[in-house]
Amino acid sequence: MSQHYAITMPQLSDTMTEGVVVTWEKQPGDRVERGDIVATVETDKAIMDVEVFKAGYLAGPLADVGATIAVGAALGYITDTAGDVAIAADEVVEEQAQTEMIPHHAGTPIVMPQLSDTMTEGVVVTWEKQPGDAIKRGDIVATVETDKAIMDVEVFQDGFLSGPIADVGSVVEVGHPMGFIVDDASKANDTGVTISSDHKVKDMHKVAPHAADKPANIPLPKTAPVQISTAGKVPPVARPAGRQASPYARKVAAQLGVNLAGLAGSGPSGVIVAADVARARPSMAEVAHSLPQVDVPGQGRPMTSMEKAVSHAMTASLTLPTFNVTTNIDIAALTSAAKANKVSVTVAIAKACSLAMAKFPRMNWAYQPVDKLVERGNHDFGVAVMSNDGGLVVPILHGIERKPLQALQGDWTALVERARVRKLAPSEYANPTFTISNMGMLGVSHFTAIPTPGIAAILAIAANGPQGTPFTITGDHRVLNGADVALYLATLKQTIEAPESWLGAGGAAAETVAGAATTVSAPVSPIPEGNWDFPVVVVGGGPGGEDCARDLADHGVRVMMVNNEPFPGGECLWRGCIPSKAWRAAADNIRNRAHDAEMGVDGTNTPKLNWEQVEKHRRWVQTSRGEMALKADKGMKIDVREGYGEFVDAHTLKITPVEGQPYTVSFGAAVIATGAPAFVPPIPGARENLASGGVVTSDTIWNLANPPKQLGIVGGGVIGVEMAQIFRDFGTEVLMLERNDRILAEIEDEIAKTLIASLEKEITVVTGAAINEISGTPGAMKLRYANKEGVESVFACDIVLMATGKRPDTSRLNLDKVGVELDGAAIKVDTRCQTSAANIYAVGDVIGGYMLAHTAATQGRVAASNLLGHASEYDQDKDCGVTFSRPQAGFVGLSVAQAKAKGIDAVEAKMPMSIDAKAMITGETEGMIKLVADKASGRIIGVHFLADHTDTLIGTGVMMVAGEMTLTQVAKAIFPHPTQTELFGELARRLLNRLRRTAKK
Ligand SMILES: Cc1cc2nc3c(=O)[nH]c(=O)nc-3n(C[C@H](O)[C@H](O)[C@H](O)COP(=O)(O)OP(=O)(O)OC[C@H]3O[C@@H](n4cnc5c(N)ncnc54)[C@H](O)[C@@H]3O)c2cc1C
Repeated sequence: MSQHYAITMPQLSDTMTEGVVVTWEKQPGDRVERGDIVATVETDKAIMDVEVFKAGYLAGPLADVGATIAVGAALGYITDTAGDVAIAADEVVEEQAQTEMIPHHAGTPIVMPQLSDTMTEGVVVTWEKQPGDAIKRGDIVATVETDKAIMDVEVFQDGFLSGPIADVGSVVEVGHPMGFIVDDASKANDTGVTISSDHKVKDMHKVAPHAADKPANIPLPKTAPVQISTAGKVPPVARPAGRQASPYARKVAAQLGVNLAGLAGSGPSGVIVAADVARARPSMAEVAHSLPQVDVPGQGRPMTSMEKAVSHAMTASLTLPTFNVTTNIDIAALTSAAKANKVSVTVAIAKACSLAMAKFPRMNWAYQPVDKLVERGNHDFGVAVMSNDGGLVVPILHGIERKPLQALQGDWTALVERARVRKLAPSEYANPTFTISNMGMLGVSHFTAIPTPGIAAILAIAANGPQGTPFTITGDHRVLNGADVALYLATLKQTIEAPESWLGAGGAAAETVAGAATTVSAPVSPIPEGNWDFPVVVVGGGPGGEDCARDLADHGVRVMMVNNEPFPGGECLWRGCIPSKAWRAAADNIRNRAHDAEMGVDGTNTPKLNWEQVEKHRRWVQTSRGEMALKADKGMKIDVREGYGEFVDAHTLKITPVEGQPYTVSFGAAVIATGAPAFVPPIPGARENLASGGVVTSDTIWNLANPPKQLGIVGGGVIGVEMAQIFRDFGTEVLMLERNDRILAEIEDEIAKTLIASLEKEITVVTGAAINEISGTPGAMKLRYANKEGVESVFACDIVLMATGKRPDTSRLNLDKVGVELDGAAIKVDTRCQTSAANIYAVGDVIGGYMLAHTAATQGRVAASNLLGHASEYDQDKDCGVTFSRPQAGFVGLSVAQAKAKGIDAVEAKMPMSIDAKAMITGETEGMIKLVADKASGRIIGVHFLADHTDTLIGTGVMMVAGEMTLTQVAKAIFPHPTQTELFGELARRLLNRLRRTAKK
């Protein structure tokens, strides 16, 4: 049962009966700590902040901004339960959260210090300064009487005393404000109020005008005054070894999560007193607010407390005079040794940093205002971790200098788990002595991190590059100099590159091949550490998902692949490449007979289609390959699950199996490879007739009892053209309708035009067509369309194939819950296949671009490679594709037009197949091959085909482009005779000669 407390309108003065709500500084659900300002109210005297002295969460209903609320009536509520954003309508809340009013923008409060363990309140005896007076660090501003004695109240911040100040004789609870310090004399509260003993405004007065000769005060790095709260009943921390600390300092240290071991003591004989502890956690709000600000148009929303904390710390970091030093370190040996020793690379790097630091202890020191150095021996390193909500959390791995690696690994595993859900205790994130930030996982080639007050150095680790992994230290020049850091990095390099002495030997550095990717030495895997069910889950078991899962499994990563089909292979195996090419193979055998007679073979010109056998053969290929794939996947220890995967959050996937209950698995990283189904545009009758089978797509064409006698195809892309020719060879009459002026828009111009000319001899192609309606029943369909001129016709056919493209459908993946952004229908990724969520990758058809099986598979390997920590990229300019038409069209790399669009001065040479000896022999003389080269470098950047056997010839082109071969290399290569491959050598020599001749002119 949740406990609720009412936040009531406080009575600021005896005359105050009501107040108006001006702002809410927190929203329902926000965490509230004791002393937080939750709202601002206007009273008859001034605008005041409402400070709440009850920790919990703000809950509604909140009084509306602008509402007038009577003194004592509820403004809102505090609940002790997170997520409890509103109390029930009928609930009567008896308990009240203690509130206090402080003037709006009052400055830094001077709170009643707890000067002894038993002290709960103090009586103001004197004010040693008056509102408006300048205050220096260390000044005594007041004296208070405690249960023990009269003691001085010392502050540790420069500025000016500002009202309201607690009345002399008033009793102020420990932790409550007695007065305020502002950074500028002009901000001192000159309409100050004096608070009476019962916390009410006693009178309003003008503060003393400050002397004109007082120097302008520009506040510099400050620490807060002794702001000590009595919040919580946390037991005091242990006495630090060999050091003295006052009981109160230990208690405050426990509350604030301060590690006493690293603190310098300012008490007698170096005893650590509460003030030292408070100084260790400087409040930076004041620093941030006193810096020059630029007003931007618009209504700013209030920052969350986390955002505020980061903002203040970052602003405070501006006070650090920093410099950067970078060294490239080969972390291959460390990576394998860490793996062999079952410790994470993060822990191994932290230990290496600590070992090197033993020789350069200054790296672990800190500057302390004013003019002090805290010489720390405890290696408590903050290590940045991505939380589940996408933010950064920096948990601290404590005692690295003394703990063995295995113990550190245990600490780290538990710490990371809590860090991801932001459930860290203050001692687990406060007061690091050094910080490590690894953004290598995000692929950055170099970056610097920002140290905040309290540390002298922060280490930024970027992605692995050709020269190794850049380690950049940003150091505080008050503590370190360039040589210190350079020598430290040199030692760190030696420690990391030769881990045998401290970490034990590991295996040889792993090497990864990822399609067009380039890889270097073994790097740090960006798979977030944690106690996941699976370090990586792959959603989708097509070519993209399967290749990714296999590469990861091959490298020892435990991976689960969920696929909503019984066997892997995806569209390619079950509805795409494989079945269509099985049909094409039968169709080829029919078509090839046309050449038999001219070569002297008679009697083969009346081949007969045995549809039942065609289908049997096709299904045999598919099921055999499906079974082979599943067996191989399982053999590689991929955990293959059948079911539909959808995201619950950035580390949880829900799987709905075909049978049984849905369940969830947690994961470190995920790869989305869910493909793209056929897209049917809203043409009247198109979607409506899918169910009957009168209209089919590439997903549903695989159940034909017989080939249609007449086939209407809507769409003249690659799939439409392949299907048109297959069915033509099976004896079907085909009509192809295309909305655009040209079919095969995605194919290189000249190749496409030549292919279209061949095609139009076999089938009817209508371009610029408007499809008005599709109607009928399977076997008796009507395709009503108008041509370019607007003349309407009706084509009677058995079925209509909608070959109108493919479009990713991510609507059921819950991508919004994990921060994965879309680009149109496709998932947005960078060249590493990383989505906008750092731990989620996407590959294949679902990311758009070339929707081809080998593209998906390459991207799958690129994602795997990046997840293994190698810097891999998919390079579309080296990709390729074959259209299984007759003759076959094919491309590798860029066309001249594409190259020119990229600013490359490209040239091409082409040769017709008709001059090739082998082509003449086999009667396959239709088409051409083109070679595209970069004029400046002579590199071959594209090869284009229209030729029979392109599916085999293209491999040579792929090697030329992928291997960045030059025309000279190809010209010199020896190709066997008589084969069509001779054309490559011919083309290279021809182009070289041309370039030579034109260069001479
Ligand atoms: C008729 C036709 C012919 C083709 N011919 C060729 C060709 O000759 N050469 C070529 O390179 N390409 C060809 N393609 C394209 C090729 O099929 C695709 O590019 C390739 O299959 C894409 O692979 P993928 O891994 O991205 O997705 P897919 O192969 O579509 O695999 C995705 C898998 O994920 C599953 N899935 C989807 N959502 C979920 C979920 N939420 N949870 C679990 N599982 C899910 C799907 O069921 C599917 O099994 C052809 C396509 C068609 C339609």
